[in-house]
Amino acid sequence: MKIVMLGAPGAGKGTQAKQIAAKYGVPHISTGDIFRANLKAGTELGLKAKTYMDQGQLVPDSLTLELIMDRFGNDDCRNGYVLDGFPRTIPQAEALTRALEEKNDKLDYAINVDVPDSNIIDRMSGRRACLKCGGTFHVKYNPTKKEGICDLCGGELVIRDDDKPEIVNKRLVAYHEQTQPLIDYYEKEGILKNVDGTQDVNKVFEDICDILENK
Ligand code: ADP
Ligand code: ADP
Ligand code: ZN
Repeated sequence: MKIVMLGAPGAGKGTQAKQIAAKYGVPHISTGDIFRANLKAGTELGLKAKTYMDQGQLVPDSLTLELIMDRFGNDDCRNGYVLDGFPRTIPQAEALTRALEEKNDKLDYAINVDVPDSNIIDRMSGRRACLKCGGTFHVKYNPTKKEGICDLCGGELVIRDDDKPEIVNKRLVAYHEQTQPLIDYYEKEGILKNVDGTQDVNKVFEDICDILENK
């Protein structure tokens, strides 16, 4: 099962992708997490990516593709994967389609988690992230048992630098300009599925499972 998650920053792609990965036994691949891990490890790639991320801009395609393309060759991707935050531009989507075609393969679903911009600032301002395990929580909608501590690994939670309102607005502009066109791209490929991302986390997941199980 090969799935791409689409949706604005903060729509809940990561939250849902983690649940899909756990239930269907496929790896969750998040380009944002990979960039942040690189930054934490102080790699050149991570430092380059940070300058764009901090300004709410997308990391250039060449850098992103360099990072992600060989990830699909890993052994754990044999039975598929759920991609979260990639592709984010038409050239990235085309590169992915080509790489799959070379192996006589294709994606199964592009799931668009639909949330209007008006909800996004609220979601982002309450988001708390664990840089150790990639866990994501929300002070109001998905609180941890102990404030500031990750439920999954006990790590310390942080407010991401790019979740400040002024940067979130820039990310929304980048989303509408560069990523939203992917909805049409995958519609034309015949694999687009829309879910209402304003619902409760569990209801969104139920809707996604119905899609994946062809109910
Ligand atoms: P969110 O889940 O809130 O949308 P991510 O963690 O996916 O945020 O991404 C954080 C930042 O990392 C983005 O704003 C962008 O700068 C960069 N990034 C992540 N994935 C990509 C990608 N596929 N192409 C370009 N930039 C990316
Ligand atoms: P994305 O990966 O699309 O950027 P996240 O999964 O990180 O989004 O979710 C953004 C924030 O919104 C997080 O704080 C998360 O806990 C919260 N969240 C996710 N899904 C929902 C939902 N259905 N309702 C309310 N809050 C949600
Ligand atoms: Zn954690």
